[in-house]
This record gives sequence, structure tokens and C-alpha cells, in this order.
Amino acid sequence: MNQPIMKGVAAVNAPAYVKQQKLINWVADMAALTKPDSVYWCDGTVEEYDRLCAEMVAAGTMKKLNEAKRPNSYLACSDPSDVARVEDRTYICSAKKEDAGPTNNWMEPAEMRATMNPLFDGCMKGRTMYVVPFSMGPLGSPIAHIGVELSDSPYVAVNMRTMTRMGKAVYDVLGTDGDFVPCMHTVGAPLAAGQKDVAWPCNATKYIVHYPETREIWSYGSGYGGNALLGKKCFALRIASTMGRDQGWLAEHMLILGVESPEGKKHYIAAAFPSACGKTNFSMLIPPASFGGWKVTTIGDDIAWIKPGKDGRLYAINPEAGYFGVAPGTNKNTNFNCMASVRSDSIFTNVALTDDGDVWWEGMTKEVPSHLIDWQGKDWTPEIAKETGRKAAHPNSRFTVAATQNPVLDAAWDDPAGVPISAFIFGGRRSTTVPLVTEARNWVEGVYMAATMGSETTAAAVGQQGIVRRDPFAMLPFTGYNVSDYFQHWLNMGKKIEASGAKQPSIYCVNWFRTDENGKFVWPGFGDNMRVLKWMLERIEGNGKGVENIFGVTPEFSDLTWDGLEFSQQQFDTITSIDKAAWEAELKLHAELFEKLEYHLPEELEATRLALSKRLAS
Ligand code: GDP
Ligand code: PGA
Ligand code: MN
Repeated sequence: MNQPIMKGVAAVNAPAYVKQQKLINWVADMAALTKPDSVYWCDGTVEEYDRLCAEMVAAGTMKKLNEAKRPNSYLACSDPSDVARVEDRTYICSAKKEDAGPTNNWMEPAEMRATMNPLFDGCMKGRTMYVVPFSMGPLGSPIAHIGVELSDSPYVAVNMRTMTRMGKAVYDVLGTDGDFVPCMHTVGAPLAAGQKDVAWPCNATKYIVHYPETREIWSYGSGYGGNALLGKKCFALRIASTMGRDQGWLAEHMLILGVESPEGKKHYIAAAFPSACGKTNFSMLIPPASFGGWKVTTIGDDIAWIKPGKDGRLYAINPEAGYFGVAPGTNKNTNFNCMASVRSDSIFTNVALTDDGDVWWEGMTKEVPSHLIDWQGKDWTPEIAKETGRKAAHPNSRFTVAATQNPVLDAAWDDPAGVPISAFIFGGRRSTTVPLVTEARNWVEGVYMAATMGSETTAAAVGQQGIVRRDPFAMLPFTGYNVSDYFQHWLNMGKKIEASGAKQPSIYCVNWFRTDENGKFVWPGFGDNMRVLKWMLERIEGNGKGVENIFGVTPEFSDLTWDGLEFSQQQFDTITSIDKAAWEAELKLHAELFEKLEYHLPEELEATRLALSKRLAS
């Protein structure tokens, strides 16, 4: 194989099993630009993973947890400034501004390249460039796609091994001329000769850049998950959504679960909730004890790629191979399966360290440890917390764990053909206004519901929290193209299913987060969300009852199963009431959104808005 050699540039030294010259040339070009000390080709083996982790422990980036308490697990604590996705630094650089749309930051591609090139010039000095080959989706599946990430972060390399199918075998699928999405990543912290490294290198300047037309990703300055693990939100959502638009499929911010009744009837359901609004929890929920015989199994917890099958139905795969989940609030009672998943072989980021070398986060146990080292490496006690309000774990602290650790992983989770989807659920975090569950009367009204969804902002992104913002399809930060065109794509998909003669998936809107006058959640949520899921299944099977309201069909108190839960009609009313004034205000926000999205906004959606307003007024 032809190995390009350049003066003063680290030898690229591609292993013999890498057969693609185009890839080798790209790595050589990027090495010439970024000037790492060395280039390392990841093979994805467990030996490599262990070695990189040991190196990070030696460098102070990670701590090895107590082997007896949490086998083969690590804690990484980031720079305090690098803890979440940076939406205002995220760009969609399509040739035309209107193709990025009003919800994305945009810069002309040539201008962005002129900005990126000087930043990347020499950015890996003193570091190793890791070549990380990965498949999103089962290796070789017709629904899967390949990416190669070049990163100067070993933390990225090991996390990518858990989150994707990463390693040598990817090159067999890629062959001599297969397509891959090139993903450039740097923490943006070159080292001068002899300069000592910090535990978590990053840069105050950050850019998360996507070129949808050429399908490239360039990420600068952050080591945090969603900014740096480029297979996830950058590729599997922003780039893949544009691929889906062009090729007739969907890339969605959705969990996928299987739900089986005691009679053995099984359905697969995909649900979109914004970041930190309950996807991971919902995807592995344990039905209440009183729901004997009901089973929920996980296909995926964050992202779904969905393609029409030969029978006209939609088939979904989880492009990922692991979970990058929110730690705080996770405990044995709310999410037993998640706690079981992270019992070993996990990487924790920005949680607290216990005195016996294990991890802790707010909400993990009722009993709060009397002493911890918090995520910033400082002493923490309940007294200090009371005085200062300081959290032991960052609110957006995370665990990284392989899907295969999940006790309720669905048997078909790795099936290259995907699973047929019976329903879509859309949900936000709303303390008021939005009822527990509503079934859309038809596809267009379902798309309208999803398009106009609002949700209170969370710690998953940098910025103010608890502010209601419109988050269409829970995709506001992830749609790689104009969101009005994205709505149109969804409408088109619905028509396509209808034309095939297949049954369209039902569409639901849910809200687990209505609060009472004291600000407490009224709905118990978590496992009890099974009660809502069961009602949906009854509706899908054609025997569930409900009543029509202004927006769709909702269950009455007696339509849900209450065995094993004390929940009064009055509580139910608190979370299902539709307040006219609140909805008039809500529809104004829909109108504002549609004004903003006027360019290419599908007429059906504006017509639906007018019809709903009319219905509300009468
Ligand atoms: P994701 O980022 O969408 O995957 O969200 P997670 O499932 O990780 O949940 C984010 C936060 O919301 C965690 O603190 C959970 O404990 C909390 N959460 C998840 N599901 C529910 C629910 O049904 N009710 C309530 N009240 N909180 C929930
Ligand atoms: P999530 O996002 O909160 O939807 O799991 C992960 C991320 O921020 O990268
Ligand atoms: Mn999640």
C-alpha cells in the first residue's frame, strides 16, 4: 500500500488490513494539518481498551474505581467548562443558508473551512492522533453506515468502543472503495515540547461543525460526549437526517422498545423526548409488579434509524451499541435495569467518588454519603452541600456502558433488518398545560403535535435551564437541515406508508412531568409509565377506550389500569386537564414557531393549526 511520507509529519503507518487508499490519504492529510506526534490505528480489541484506560489513569484523566465494588470501571472528571453540548457553537454549513433553516447556526462552507483550517493547524502537537473506525448499526447491515473519527482524545477512543461497533472489522466492510463519513475531532490543546498535560485538555473556543452536502464533521475544543463522540448526535442525527431526507428514511432522536403482553402480543414503539427527558429510562422500564406477564425490552435508548421495508411498514435499528446516559436521578427503584447495566465495565463522567472508591450521584441512594470527592475533585459533605448548594455530581454527569450489559436487551436489538414500528411517541418536559397522553387522530395531526412540541430546557445543553422552548420532534439541536423540509419529509413518509397499503404507526404525545401547586411531579412516572403504554397497545389493537378532545383522543380515568397504584381521579384530573387559556397561549407559541419556519412550512401544518384554534375557540 502506498504510504504517503511528508517531511516533519508523523508517519501514518496504516496497518496492512486497511485496504482503502482514499482513507489512508485522508488520514495523512489530516496528520499533516494537525501535526500529532504519532498516529495510532485503533483495532477495537479489549487489550487496546484496557491499555488506553491504564494510560489515562496514569495521566490523571481517569481514576480506576474499586475493583471489588465496580469491576473494570473508571471515573473521568472533565474541565468544569466542558460538561454539556454547546448548541450555540454548533453549525450546519450547507451551501445555502435556507437549507440549514432558521433553527440552525449557519456559515458558508468555504468561510467555515477558512475558520477551521487555522484552528486545526498544529492542534494535535504533542499528542497522538487516534484513528477510530466505527459502524453505526450492525456491521454490514443495509441500514448501517460507517464513519472514521480522527481524534487526539483517548477518552473519545475508549468511549467510541462502547458506543459504536468500533474496530478492525469495520475495514472489511469498508473494503477498497466503501463510503465513510470523515469525522475530525480535536480537544484543541496542543502541547509544546516538554509541556505538562492537564487531566482534561480542552479549549475555551469550541466549534461543532457539520457539512451536510459533503457529509463531514469537524469538532474543535471539547472532549464532552455529544460534542466529541462524533458517531452519536453529529453523525447519527445531524448528518444522517440529511442522508435520510435524500434517500427516503428517517434518523430520529428516539429510543426503541419492545412491549409484550401476557398473551404474547408484541409491538415495537419508538419515542422521542428531548435530552434528559426520559428516553433511557423509558427504554428499559420495569412494569409495575401488578402487571404480571408484561415485558418491556430495549432496542435502543437514544437514536433510531428507520427505513421503509418491502411490506411498506417502517423498520427501525439502533445505530449505537452502548448507552451514554444521565446519571443523576438514576437509582434501583426508578431504573433497576440501568443500575444493573452499570454494575461493572462502565465509564462514569463527572459523578462523585466515594471514600471506598465507588461512584455516587444525587438521587442514587436515599442515604447520602457523609463524605465524597465531588466531580470537581473537591471535598463534599451534606453540610457543605447545604451551605453552598454545590452538587456532588454534575447535573449532566453520565455513564457509558455497552448495550449488552442491559438485562432487558431485546433479542432483536442487533438484527440488521430492524424491527417494525407500531407507534411513535413524542414527549416533552412540561410542568403545566400538556396532558399525560393524547393520541393523534391521524398522521398529519400527529406530525403537527410533534412539530409544535415544547419542552423545558435541561442540563444536557449549556445554557439556562427550565425555560420552555419549542423542540420539534425533540430534534431542535439535531436536525441537519431546514426543519420545515424535515416536517415535509415526515408528511411524505406518512403518505408513502398509506400508499403501500400498510397501517401507519399511531402517534402519541405524552407528558410525565406535570407538577402540583408545590412544584412536585404528580405522575409517578418511570415503571408506572407502563400504564400509559398498555393503553396505547390497547388502542393499537383496536380495543382501547378513550374520548375525543380538541387535540386528539385521551383516556378517561377508568380507561387506564390502576392495579397496584394509589392514584385518585382528582390527581388524574390535575395531569390531564386541558386549560383553555393555557392552550390559547400555547397555540400562540405554535403560531410564532410557524412564522419563524414560514419558508417551506407544509401547508397541512398551518391548516391543522387553524383547525385546532377554531376547535379551541368554539
Ligand atoms: P434521556 O437523556 O432522554 O435519555 O433521559 P433519561 O432517561 O436519562 O432521564 C433524564 C432525567 O429525567 C433523569 O434524572 C431521570 O431520573 C428523569 N426521568 C426519566 N423518566 C422520568 C419519569 O417518568 N418521571 C420523572 N419524574 N422523571 C423522569
Ligand atoms: P441525551 O444526549 O441527553 O439525549 O442522552 C446525550 C448528549 O448530550 O450527548
Ligand atoms: Mn439518554
